[in-house]
Amino acid sequence: MRKPFIAGNWKMNKTPSEARELVKKLKEITGDRTDVDMAVCPNDVSLHGVVEELAGSNIKVGAQNMHWKESGAYTGETAPGMLADLGIEYIIIGHSERRQIFNETDQDVNRKVKSALQYDLKPIICVGETLAEREAGKTKETVTFQVKAALAGVRSEDIEKVTIAYEPIWAIGTGESASADQAEDTINKIRKIIAELAPGKESEIRIQYGGSVKPHNIEEFMSKPDIDGALVGGASLEAESFAGVIENASK
Ligand code: PEP
Repeated sequence: MRKPFIAGNWKMNKTPSEARELVKKLKEITGDRTDVDMAVCPNDVSLHGVVEELAGSNIKVGAQNMHWKESGAYTGETAPGMLADLGIEYIIIGHSERRQIFNETDQDVNRKVKSALQYDLKPIICVGETLAEREAGKTKETVTFQVKAALAGVRSEDIEKVTIAYEPIWAIGTGESASADQAEDTINKIRKIIAELAPGKESEIRIQYGGSVKPHNIEEFMSKPDIDGALVGGASLEAESFAGVIENASK
């Protein structure tokens, strides 16, 4: 059985002190749960404080981006070994904001996934279609391409360390989530792609939905057989609402 996995993507929000306050509250409400895997993904400058604050709790910490190289002249970038040394467990890779605003390519995503795995960081790979692609009937084609590109050359035994987050771009931050049926339809397709790439691993890999997930709609997504949790943006910025998503995900 796949355990539900709820991760919060804070994006470029919260100062280091605000980040500590948020996780202090979150830890009080939900820090010792074991029925749901939980993670928060703050901005890099808050990672150290959040790791310290969450030490000994069941809430894990992820980062939002990294370079694939070990070190070097890449001003402003963060290397995977730096994150691993801090005690970071997850790394979001290929979020649509990085693809669209920072021109991250499918090849970059693939390099980052392989590099993260070398450093024992667990990738949360984001894929998803634009509104234009959905309206043109190209959702599955787009997502298939992204998943295959992201996982090219990844060893079959590493696949279960990976989480895929299906995030239709038109549903991110808009308050307009996909329907649970739409999400299930695409996530089921992703599971079939995994079956092709790494037979047997399709029942082990966790696939999240992301896009305007809130405490009131997570239960419906979780009722679908292929949806294993959520990558949560806006609703992860307050301890109460993120804890609400976690609570309702386990019902
Ligand atoms: C996200 O940024 O990954 C996300 C899903 O955001 P939101 O929940 O705010 O739509």
